[in-house]
Amino acid sequence: MKITEALLTMGASHGRTGKAIKPEGIVVHYVANPGSSAMANRNYFENGSGGRGVSSHYIVGLQGEVIQCIPEAEVAMHAGAAYSNAYLEQARKNNSIFYGIETCHPEADGKFSDVTTESLAELCAEICARHKFDPIADIYTHNEVTGKLCPLYYVNHPDAWQQFKASVKALLDKQEEQKPTLPPGLVNLMVDGINYQIEAENTGGRFYTKLTVLARVIGPKKVAAIRDVLEANGYTVTWDEELNRITAVSAG
Ligand SMILES: [Zn+2]
Repeated sequence: MKITEALLTMGASHGRTGKAIKPEGIVVHYVANPGSSAMANRNYFENGSGGRGVSSHYIVGLQGEVIQCIPEAEVAMHAGAAYSNAYLEQARKNNSIFYGIETCHPEADGKFSDVTTESLAELCAEICARHKFDPIADIYTHNEVTGKLCPLYYVNHPDAWQQFKASVKALLDKQEEQKPTLPPGLVNLMVDGINYQIEAENTGGRFYTKLTVLARVIGPKKVAAIRDVLEANGYTVTWDEELNRITAVSAG
């Protein structure tokens, strides 16, 4: 999906501390400012949000446009305050573990338009895929992690919220189905942007192939250390410097 990067200036007053995030999930918000655009909300963060220093990683706009305000490696300031004592402990860790997405809406009831909802679902699916989040268990409303009435429409319509998460899961499942499958024994080897399907064997996370196969991919270069190749094939290797001789003895 198309994401417009408009990163906030570094600094706590802009809602950007630069602290590293340890991502565990996503928190969805509504902007609570009917009719305001994604860029206007981004600029509100940039200008210090009236001294509050708040921010979110992404903002989804009224036409479904997506603006990124904070890189996914960093913390954003979107869910740090508890709205009842029950959430005090949870709220303390929210920002260090959750990506924040603000969402624009036309009316005061906070209902997102269809195009905004589709875009939000697509964005959530992309983030879930990148970070191996479970869309049902790892996406939260702001309400669920702090008690705030946000995003208002989903707080008032819990069924619509469950349906939204199910739509994110459906997108992920579809992506999974569309992943190209390879015949057994082949792997994709991407070299300088070109994909080669080569015969290779996975042994404990290391891939072994014939030197002739590798030579076909990278051409007439040094392709492997002789010792590595021999040892990988079960030989014990010694080197005699005086005689300039490599000696390989197979097991047994
Ligand atoms: Zn919120």
